[in-house]
Amino acid sequence: MALLTQAIRGTGDVLPNDSHRWQFVENTMLETARLFGFREIRTPVFEHTELFVRSVGDTTDVVQKEMYTFDDNGGRSITLRPEGTAGAVRAFLEHGLHNEALPQKVSYVTSCYRYEKPQAGRLREFHQFGVECFGAAEPQADAEIISLAAAAFEALGIKNLSLEINSIGCPECRAKFYDALREYFGSNQGELCETCKGRLERNPMRILDCKSPVCKKIAEGAPTVLDYICDDCRDHFEKTKSYLTAMGIEYTVNPTIVRGLDYYTRTVFEFVSGDLGAQSTVCGGGRYDGLVEQMGGPKTPALGFAVGLERLLMIMDAQKCEFPETKPCDVYIAPMGEKAATMASKLAKMLRAEGFFAETDIVGRGLKAQMKYANKIGAKYTVVLGDDEIAAGKANLKCMETGEQTEVSLPDGLISAVYDLSINASLGQLTDALDNFDFKL
Ligand code: ATP
Ligand code: MG
Repeated sequence: MALLTQAIRGTGDVLPNDSHRWQFVENTMLETARLFGFREIRTPVFEHTELFVRSVGDTTDVVQKEMYTFDDNGGRSITLRPEGTAGAVRAFLEHGLHNEALPQKVSYVTSCYRYEKPQAGRLREFHQFGVECFGAAEPQADAEIISLAAAAFEALGIKNLSLEINSIGCPECRAKFYDALREYFGSNQGELCETCKGRLERNPMRILDCKSPVCKKIAEGAPTVLDYICDDCRDHFEKTKSYLTAMGIEYTVNPTIVRGLDYYTRTVFEFVSGDLGAQSTVCGGGRYDGLVEQMGGPKTPALGFAVGLERLLMIMDAQKCEFPETKPCDVYIAPMGEKAATMASKLAKMLRAEGFFAETDIVGRGLKAQMKYANKIGAKYTVVLGDDEIAAGKANLKCMETGEQTEVSLPDGLISAVYDLSINASLGQLTDALDNFDFKL
């Protein structure tokens, strides 16, 4: 039975009491991105396995250990997306977006799937907000997407995130770095984990990202990439940093950040939080100038980042960030008897057509039980409809907070009274806000 009543390990539900928090986070991030000119893209949850193997990289943890891959009934190898960039790049190429005005700037909120050991902040189905920007080579672009992430965190009221940046250079300057890494790790080869032994030849930089404690320890003494990057890459990194400084965005250079996916070039960055415990990175991103071309498209410099939304919400909880309240029911209509029930459903329809949140009885409760329900859902106003009210064409609109009653004619008087009351309430809020506003500049 547990199979029927328990979600799969490492997955979770967002229940109705919680979903407004997710909506707030997702809407705020998409809206922040919109202010920077990013528009939403939606891509399928599954793609050809080859897409991820080629883009994420076949020596990465994601491809080697974490993908949900299966054959469909037609015998094709399918993978549930482990991240959002590959699908966005595929769609960019498939639909020829490179022929449209560049840069093309896209944003997304998606679920991702990785077969990992579930723990706090590490799930098998998790969610990301991300952006990708295609066709921008300049360091202004690096600084701009970093400032987008920072602006989104600020809009959510999150504090104390630290931004760590690094440059991992271009393929040319990285060749020298790889040689240095091979020499260093080659002398410690016996102690490396089995996966890293295999990485030594093909992709020694991946060893720096290994989670095994022994490899981590050895990696501490490894050469750092910043000592090997070429003049162009160094110049790009210096300019990125100076744009960040000009925008007042604080950062630290962390030469150990190499990111876990193969497609990165030049700038890589992470936003890290002290409120997260072991899984401290909430946002990771960087530049991937070679990826579009590597996937068969025209040479297109590009960059992006992704934020883990479960981790983001954990930080917001730890910091007691405020979420906007969900709007309660405006009017609950309590009918008694069949005639009244018909009138109630008409009135509810009219109120909803005007944009009000209206509920009426749909489970056949008596009046007392209905009022109890109206209280439970926090209805602002209630109307009781009985035979007398129907006969007179009038009813009382009751404010649940003050107990005040207003007689209204049915149906038009009710609709206009709800209108007036809601306008007065908004005006009241506005006056309060203005009273509290500090006009001094
Ligand atoms: P980590 O080092 O924690 O495994 P990563 O480098 O694999 O992270 P990315 O591929 O850069 O992560 O994904 C971007 C963000 O997505 C991460 O910073 C994190 O917030 C989130 N994320 C990644 N994997 C998971 C997961 N299994 N569960 C929840 N969030 C995740
Ligand atoms: Mg990972």
